[in-house]
Amino acid sequence: MRTEKIFIGGRWVHSVSDHFFDSVNPATGQPIARIPEGVREDAQLAIQAANKGLEQISGMSVWDRAKLLVSIAEAILRRKEDLAQVLTMEQGKPYYSEALEEIEGTALAFAHAAEQIKWLETSVLPVEDRNKRVWTIRQPKGVYAIITPWNFPFMVAAEYLAPGLAAGNAIVWVPAPTTSLCAIRLAECLEEAGVPEGVFNLVTGKGSIVGDEIVANPGAHAIGFTGSTATGNQIAVRGAGKPLLLELGGNGPTIVLKDADLNHAADMVASGCFFNAGQVCSATERILVHRDIHDEFVAKLVNHAKKIVLGDPFDLRTTMGPLNNEPVTLKNEAHANDSLERGAEILIGGKRAKNRTSNLFFEPTVITGVTEDCLYNKDETFGPVAPVMSFSTHEEALEIAARNSWGLVSSVFTSNLKDSIYFAEKLKTGIVNINDSSNYWESHIPFGGVAGKASGVGRIGGKYAISEMSDLKTISLDLR
Ligand code: NAD
Repeated sequence: MRTEKIFIGGRWVHSVSDHFFDSVNPATGQPIARIPEGVREDAQLAIQAANKGLEQISGMSVWDRAKLLVSIAEAILRRKEDLAQVLTMEQGKPYYSEALEEIEGTALAFAHAAEQIKWLETSVLPVEDRNKRVWTIRQPKGVYAIITPWNFPFMVAAEYLAPGLAAGNAIVWVPAPTTSLCAIRLAECLEEAGVPEGVFNLVTGKGSIVGDEIVANPGAHAIGFTGSTATGNQIAVRGAGKPLLLELGGNGPTIVLKDADLNHAADMVASGCFFNAGQVCSATERILVHRDIHDEFVAKLVNHAKKIVLGDPFDLRTTMGPLNNEPVTLKNEAHANDSLERGAEILIGGKRAKNRTSNLFFEPTVITGVTEDCLYNKDETFGPVAPVMSFSTHEEALEIAARNSWGLVSSVFTSNLKDSIYFAEKLKTGIVNINDSSNYWESHIPFGGVAGKASGVGRIGGKYAISEMSDLKTISLDLR
């Protein structure tokens, strides 16, 4: 088993702690790498290096930054299979049906950012005083503290690294501990592409230590965080006063009206529930189905769940791997048991799968009669589950939808154009997908939580992320 290093100031180094933790394959329980257990001093060194690197990247022309991003995309694609293998081995998602796609998407995010930054326009503003000329420019915010979760260890990182570098920022990245090896392999791609010394730094270790340090340290000027709402709220306090881009939890509703194409709706809902074993912020975790079509729809969902092949994520036939870690598996068990206690009915699944290579395989689950006081509604489950409720009127559906803390993504299925617009405009989420899975997204479109809910602040995605990760400066010139 290889002993890995962290990346600070353009060099691979040991943590000053000289301590390590094991990265573990969730499908087998076997350790796969020794990861440096970073401490505050490592994070401080990385911030110092990033402040030096900032001079370099902020001074680079936009065209040179775009070239660097293209080189990163190429380095990722050259190692596509190798990276996808690490992703499957460490995160647990199926290699053929999901991991390869995540690596391609990661490369695309860097390639997109290279295009977007070239065509980013600012403005010349007409003003009252005829002797003035006023215009705006975009400048990097400085050293960015980036903290990411384990569900899409490559893609979520790229959502910050690509626009962040495009905008001319230097970066210190703290990844989720359980997917640290993925982060180290991605860092190798950035190194291979020639990222200048100090511009990009990676520190592995506990979020509460190295993550907290990069958030609170005054040497880091802005924060990009994707993770749970609870951690996001802590970060907002610890990083008070710094610009924040927070992509937090989701538990948006998917509403199936009685005139929906039921086969299509069931296909899309199943993919929203079971893709990445449901470990997606935009996963379909609250399904509201019109009473008249409830039974027919639920039968179709159960059929989908039965067809899922749960198993070795490296097997070509496998469509669902293990959950990533024990806490998320325990949470799935707790939510299923809680719903049973509150009168729901588990039609399939609801428990760990037996006789597997590890204890983290969870059966694809469909549950009906879920009540609003169930944990499925009050918390984010993050697992392969389709919890179904029913409604009778549009208003009832919207009321149930709104009685929830999150505001990230919702979906509505209907064949009525007016209804689709009605729901799209009323639903309190940052994104509404009409006649598609709640998971539909592409890396250049804006993504984030709505104000007044617990799903975060700001927008990632293409030029929206570049705007978030840069400062708009106004310049005036007096001609007198
Ligand atoms: P988490 O909040 O437990 O951890 C996220 C990251 O924060 C990890 O890297 C962790 O080490 C770090 N961290 C933990 N405590 C910290 C602290 N005190 N200070 C700084 N960093 C700290 O979340 P998770 O379990 O890794 O990920 C799942 C969550 O991420 C879910 O809630 C999911 O909805 C959310 N998510 C959101 C999006 C989005 O775009 N909105 C995308 C993916 C995942």
